[in-house]
Amino acid sequence: MFENLSERLSGVFDRLTKQGALSEEDVKTALREVRVALLEADVSLPVARDFVKAVQDKATGQAVTKSITPGQQVVKIVHDELVHVLAGDGEAGALRIDNPPAPILMVGLQGGGKTTTTAKLAKRLKEREGKRVLMASLDVNRPAAMEQLQILGTQIGVDTLPIVKGEDPVTIAKRAKTQAALGGYDVYMLDTAGRLSIDEELMAQVAAVRDVANPRETLLVVDGLTGQDAVHTAENFDDRIGITGVVLTRMDGDGRGGAALSMRAVTGKPIRFVGLGEKMDALETFEPDRVAGRILGMGDIVALVEKAQATIEAEQAEKMTKRFQKGRFNMNDLKMQLDQMLKMGGMEGIMGMMPGMGKLAGQAKEAGFDDRVIKRQIAMIQSMTKKERANPDLLQASRKKRIAAGSGMEVSDLNKLLKMHRQMSDMMKKMGKGGMLKQAMKGMF
Ligand code: GDP
Repeated sequence: MFENLSERLSGVFDRLTKQGALSEEDVKTALREVRVALLEADVSLPVARDFVKAVQDKATGQAVTKSITPGQQVVKIVHDELVHVLAGDGEAGALRIDNPPAPILMVGLQGGGKTTTTAKLAKRLKEREGKRVLMASLDVNRPAAMEQLQILGTQIGVDTLPIVKGEDPVTIAKRAKTQAALGGYDVYMLDTAGRLSIDEELMAQVAAVRDVANPRETLLVVDGLTGQDAVHTAENFDDRIGITGVVLTRMDGDGRGGAALSMRAVTGKPIRFVGLGEKMDALETFEPDRVAGRILGMGDIVALVEKAQATIEAEQAEKMTKRFQKGRFNMNDLKMQLDQMLKMGGMEGIMGMMPGMGKLAGQAKEAGFDDRVIKRQIAMIQSMTKKERANPDLLQASRKKRIAAGSGMEVSDLNKLLKMHRQMSDMMKKMGKGGMLKQAMKGMF
């Protein structure tokens, strides 16, 4: 999978990473090529556009370091953005199948690989998680489909619900539910009927089954080779039925991969598994990190940049530690601490995180220790000149007045800030002697 896209991208980045210096124009040209490559892989236009924009924004704001080239840095940004577009925010791949018997509803169009995937997934749950699984086919229109599931069940050693001629899908779903409860199954899977295209009758039937089964997971099985059509199918099923995830089949073929890249961004639903062949073992969990690595094929560079970034952070921490040990804790350092505090949700956030401190957080706010104060303190530091920030002892009364007034504060507030700085500076010096500072600094990054 992703071979064409992968080839195109590695062409772009091979050129980019070989160059020592990059102009803005170089990056733009490269990203234009990335965009074309994505569109050719059948990624939807808005997704491709957003992707390139996100990379562009991040690439311009990057700190440049000596040990890695700008091109390598761009590769890392593209990698991270690929992971993001594939994974969205959070949500792990595991299926919610606690509370036995847990129903899993399998939906999709005919020929997408639904029956095959039902059996593959049942086998996986049985072998990897030791689950007792019952499978039931609800495809009353095609007796062959029911038999197909039964044959697969026998092949993989998973029970299927006995076929009773003349039953409608809702009745079969109810029977599966009862049977699963009585038989002590952990999971029961309902393989619904598919049609060649989406039609109202199909949707109504699936919705009726959903209402009686109340599934924990509703997985849409779609053919990954169909690109944007797969994404539209997912949107349709999600609107009408509500899906919890997607299985992309035929990813073993030379598909262009666009479905995988657009699915999450367009539908908001994660790809849970990919089908990689007709065999019963050809089902893999979908891992965005690995897939991004496969698409880009530049794992070495990504690792190199990660390592360089970690080194820079460690060096910065080391440098700061040394300065603090000598008592050189300046106003910029204090500002960094205050910024950090705001990032962690202010005083309230920090205290709320500590066990037993929740109540105190409210009191801190009453005592005037809220985010507003922190923000004003930061504003005061920002009003100081470079020299004043490095050495606040330079501040004369007139300057103090101007700085306080400029930030909407009193001189007494500024004096409080300066006192806080002195106390922290002393504390750092003392901690530095005992080696505690090093420990504390480690936690800062
Ligand atoms: P359904 O109509 O959605 O139930 O589709 P089926 O499960 O009957 O699958 C249709 C065809 O696609 C069968 O020949 C399967 O073997 C094949 N198939 C399913 N998944 C995959 C896959 O991941 N890769 C490949 N190459 N073939 C698959």
